Amino acid sequence: MRPDVLNTLFKSITELKGVGPRTAPLIEKLAGRFIVDLLWHLPSGIIDRRYAPKVADAEPGAIATITLQITKHYPSRNKRQPYKIVGMDDTGAMSLIFFHARADYLNKMLPEGETRIVSGKVERFGDGIQMTHPDHIGTTAEIDALKKVEPVYPLTAGVSLKVLGKAIMAALASAPDLPEWLDGPLKVREKWVDWHTALTQAHAPESNLDLIPTTPARRRLAYDELLANQLALAIVRAQMKRVKGLPLKGDGSLRKKVLDALPFKMTNAQTFAIAEVDADLASDFRMLRLLQGDVGSGKTVVALMAMLSAVEAGAQAVIMAPTEILARQHFETISAMAEAADLKPVLLTGRERGKSRQAILEKLASGAARMAVGTHALFQDDVHYHDLRLAVIDEQHRFGVHQRLTLAAKGRAVDVLVMTATPIPRTLMLTAYGDMDVSRLMEKPAGRKPIKTVLISNDRLDEVVGAVKRAIDGGARVYWVCPLIEESETTDMAAAEARYDHLKSIFGARTGLVHGRMKSTDKDAAMTAFKDGEIDLLVATTVIEVGVDVPEASVMVIEHAERFGLAQLHQLRGRIGRGADASTCLLLHTGQLGETAKARLKTMRETDDGFVIAEKDLELRGAGELLGTRQSGMPEFRLADLAEHADLLQIARDDAELILTNDPELQGPRGPALRTLLYLFERDAAVRNLRSG
Ligand code: ADP
Ligand code: MG
Repeated sequence: MRPDVLNTLFKSITELKGVGPRTAPLIEKLAGRFIVDLLWHLPSGIIDRRYAPKVADAEPGAIATITLQITKHYPSRNKRQPYKIVGMDDTGAMSLIFFHARADYLNKMLPEGETRIVSGKVERFGDGIQMTHPDHIGTTAEIDALKKVEPVYPLTAGVSLKVLGKAIMAALASAPDLPEWLDGPLKVREKWVDWHTALTQAHAPESNLDLIPTTPARRRLAYDELLANQLALAIVRAQMKRVKGLPLKGDGSLRKKVLDALPFKMTNAQTFAIAEVDADLASDFRMLRLLQGDVGSGKTVVALMAMLSAVEAGAQAVIMAPTEILARQHFETISAMAEAADLKPVLLTGRERGKSRQAILEKLASGAARMAVGTHALFQDDVHYHDLRLAVIDEQHRFGVHQRLTLAAKGRAVDVLVMTATPIPRTLMLTAYGDMDVSRLMEKPAGRKPIKTVLISNDRLDEVVGAVKRAIDGGARVYWVCPLIEESETTDMAAAEARYDHLKSIFGARTGLVHGRMKSTDKDAAMTAFKDGEIDLLVATTVIEVGVDVPEASVMVIEHAERFGLAQLHQLRGRIGRGADASTCLLLHTGQLGETAKARLKTMRETDDGFVIAEKDLELRGAGELLGTRQSGMPEFRLADLAEHADLLQIARDDAELILTNDPELQGPRGPALRTLLYLFERDAAVRNLRSG
């Protein structure tokens, strides 16, 4: 149950004065549904109204707060003419201009003969000045309330600063004092104030300096958010570890057969990762390990070795991929490798239906199938396993582990190995996975030739086509990637289709097309034709970015490369350079490159180290944008900025660990406050994972 003290914060924003049925949906989209969401909507700028000149000194263009004696009203004579009010001080006169004004309102606000204060933008008018629609009008008694610094908030169409500002002020006014969840010494060391004070300060900037992420108030709020994140992850993890696993130990017989049949030797990194996995499997804790390795680093073999251990021990193992294409591809590779040990995995995706699906389900339930490859179809309600003990989850770069951890914590006591390609800087890994055990494949398989990356301007397309032609004549297979124009598959598809028609007119029938809107059977057919060498030029959208393995492909053209993120470019480029031939990647870009785009493409040209690229990406884009947090399932932060608050994340991680070591159920003195923190940041699920909560 949510602590009562938070109840007001989790009321709908419509409860606030001034938030009506028209503005509520707009504010909701901008900030969120609850009053608490408005608290997290921090100012992005200021309006300084402390400048209070005399009329004669007022600087046109400036925001000024001016005290005037109202001399005379000049009502508008027709709709198009403004209503004019003249006022003066001892240095001169100025006009106040109102369009579509109501006379009774103006007479009430600015009565003739009275002294009033107006605040707004000073405009030049002839030799003098005027102010059109002052932002604020008040009496002399209200001068202190007017002559101040006003926060400016990120806005959206249809919501004015006035309306939003008022709503946020009302939200702040309803914010309670909360019990302190911070570690005392940390708070002292960082010179942090209480939560409520920090919040108030963050919403009351005095200067632009108060807007930067490293002010004490903002750092404290960011820390709170990071602590909630790390504590929630730590709780889920502790929960998983608490469920005893069964020690799993194979005799190595199947592994040996498969290894002997492989055309290559394992890299040291692979061997080491397998040893780490083995140790987890053999222990009586459940495994929760992340296998992190750049594209092409050979994660699949490591996963297969783990699966074989489970099978040797008489249990079942599954590997789950994020997409149909990937599942099929894993199925092919794994089936081919497992053949040496006489093992036949089954494939289960959304496409298996009816009788064939039924047959697969029976094999899984009886234990006849010892290995399965598939999509999330593997975990549907009616799928039962005889003795499932290991699940490998291939995330590629699509995260979402957070949810899966929760899911896993709920049920099956299986060991879990999550595979992910590199572009996750350490900081992001922590927020997405918490303190999972990590094995890293830093070393690429031997014999890989580096990929040569060239930047070319789009207007040299003819030269590129010529180069592709020469490469194909020399026996190369080529990917031609079309850009993401908008976040819309339809437009992507149109671009890809147009380019396909164009290239087909040059290269003829050995040209193929694959995009996200195609039926998956057609997609497979195109991929297979490319893989088998029936076509040598494959025009594609980013659907090929994940996992596709065609070692013979050695050239990649990426159009409008400036429109892709670094991680995505890296992922795409990882599709080539997998075979024996030297590979080339041509990054086509527009002539007019922005600074960031330039830096991105330069990074691509200079390195193919996934870690370097990931760090650079974080630096260039900020964590929020990295990989598009929304689709990726990465936690989104409202207050923390991982590029600016990386040090706080480390502290939060250690803090969370210490908290749970000392007080696993959050029952101690800091417990109630920490539970409040978790609820405040809507990490309710984690609290429910506590044994008593
Ligand atoms: P990842 O999933 O990490 O991107 P894969 O597991 O798909 O990489 O492996 C990429 C390619 O490298 C595959 O064709 C695989 O057979 C091959 N490979 C894996 N390990 C080795 C190795 N030790 N030596 C040579 N090639 C390897
Ligand atoms: Mg792979």
